[in-house]
Amino acid sequence: MAPTQTTVPCQYRTGKTLGSGTYAVVKEAVHTKTGKYYACKVISKKLMEGREHMVRNEIAVLKKVSSGHKNIVTLHDYFETAHNLYLCFDLCTGGELFDRICAKGQYYEADAAQLVRTILGAVEYIHHAGIVHRDLKPENLLFRTKAEDADIMIADFGLSRVMDENKHILLTEICGTPGYMAPEIFKKIGHGKPVDIWAMGVISYFLLCGYTPFDRDTPREEMQAIFTFSFRLICYCPLAQYWEGVSETARDFVRTCLTIDPALRPTAAKALQHAWISAKTPHFVPDP
Ligand code: ADP
Ligand code: MG
Repeated sequence: MAPTQTTVPCQYRTGKTLGSGTYAVVKEAVHTKTGKYYACKVISKKLMEGREHMVRNEIAVLKKVSSGHKNIVTLHDYFETAHNLYLCFDLCTGGELFDRICAKGQYYEADAAQLVRTILGAVEYIHHAGIVHRDLKPENLLFRTKAEDADIMIADFGLSRVMDENKHILLTEICGTPGYMAPEIFKKIGHGKPVDIWAMGVISYFLLCGYTPFDRDTPREEMQAIFTFSFRLICYCPLAQYWEGVSETARDFVRTCLTIDPALRPTAAKALQHAWISAKTPHFVPDP
């Protein structure tokens, strides 16, 4: 059967769909002159009507951070047609972290620590550049290749913002993916970089036990679960069996990232100093 391909301007030919999100479909694309493959994020202008600033913002942020860190996807090119906006990224062929967690059930603790350390290093970099990502989750973390030890990359800067440190202005709009959103986002009390650390806590939790802490049937129930969250309640019972063999150090890391008060939550730099991820080999302290 002939491959379904459409010709788009700027000499790219799009092929199979790699993934899709809220406003975009991401397709594999080949540059006809060079034969090089890319991932092309196709954003419908119609769907984005009134929110075009979000794409402009995504491009501006990517210009600032992409190419600056090996664990952040690189924006290679962008252009538009009458109906769509196109962002061309270096192709990550290894798929989403989400799918790898689902395939494995859960990660070995040492592998989880290694991944978290790498992602947090890239988070520290974007925070240092004054940017908050606001949509960190395993669907937005991609592997550069199919190899087991492939580099992990932060993608999807669609909800990210540049923070003006001098003005101390916090962000207020409710956005993100409910199960990964920090309580201060729902509370509308203003939020900033600490929301990414909260999301890292949720991601670490997911890697270690194979399920997410706030997965409920509706966003409203998820919000309730976040507000009434107690780490002890969730990881010690009734799903304690999934946490068997997970070290106290790892649990402490997750608990620290999931500190309700954003002012008390560690910064990326501080979290990177935590014993679970700062030590070369995480040490295992079995449960009493
Ligand atoms: P949205 O803002 O709509 O969520 P994303 O930028 O997250 O869009 O892209 C949607 C999906 O497309 C991702 O979850 C991933 O599966 C896939 N994808 C995005 N960028 C790439 C890339 N550079 N290489 C391979 N797949 C990608
Ligand atoms: Mg996404």
